[in-house]
Amino acid sequence: MKKYRRLFIILFAAASLFPLYTQAQRETPPLEITKVTESIYEVTGGSGANTGFFIGENQVVVIDAKMTRESAVQMIGEIKKLTPNPVKYVILTHSDGDHVNGLSGFPKGIDIIAHSNTLQHMDKAFEDQELREHLPNITFSNELDLYIGEENIRLIYFYPAHTDGDIVVFFPEQKVAFLGDLIFLDRDPLIHKHKNGNSFGLVKTLKGILELEADTFIHGHGEIAHKKEIQSLVDSLEKKQERIKNLIQQGKSLEEVKKEFGIEESQSRWPSIVEIIYEEIKKL
Ligand SMILES: [Zn+2]
Repeated sequence: MKKYRRLFIILFAAASLFPLYTQAQRETPPLEITKVTESIYEVTGGSGANTGFFIGENQVVVIDAKMTRESAVQMIGEIKKLTPNPVKYVILTHSDGDHVNGLSGFPKGIDIIAHSNTLQHMDKAFEDQELREHLPNITFSNELDLYIGEENIRLIYFYPAHTDGDIVVFFPEQKVAFLGDLIFLDRDPLIHKHKNGNSFGLVKTLKGILELEADTFIHGHGEIAHKKEIQSLVDSLEKKQERIKNLIQQGKSLEEVKKEFGIEESQSRWPSIVEIIYEEIKKL
């Protein structure tokens, strides 16, 4: 009997905690606005990746659009609390849904800027008519300079990296750059093969970023970063590429290489960075 009672208590405890847990999982965290410089802000929370905005003399420039209309509208509401200036441009760091699907929450007719490959990926992904009205209308392939009052914003494309359309949004005067998903600090880099991402291109891109005169790096899924974290990401990626190259030269199969790196069949919907690098080297 005693045994049953204890079991009952445990079950009761589990049942009462479980709904709280699942509810917390489902709820979207509130938006948080962090002032990075006098005119640049980072937006975390809400639905989708971290975003940001720049308040210029007469206009506001938003970098990335959140994942839902609701979060985008909330972000615009927060901007309105800080400035009467209207949002003139949305710059997209790349085409992933957690960075662009919130576009439907923006007023029609504002300029949306992206790399030309990003437009192509979005054109394929946006089936919904509402989103199709927010496809980028200004695209470029190498570099684009924007001037908002006195502020120069440099949009720079380096190489295929996380996708083949990632751009860096660089504010040279303020030494701040937005990197989208070009860096992940607490997990392996993510390479979208289906969007022509490439780990060797990512290394070259990160080296290009390290040459910029910037010291504050805002990105999609983590805390603000600095050059030392980017440098150690470059080092670890190069080490991994070198080790995989050696294993391939020794005739190891993908399964054997994965075993060397301790990679189990992953739950993730994306292949691991080791598999990506293996296939890239095999194709060279
Ligand atoms: Zn992404």
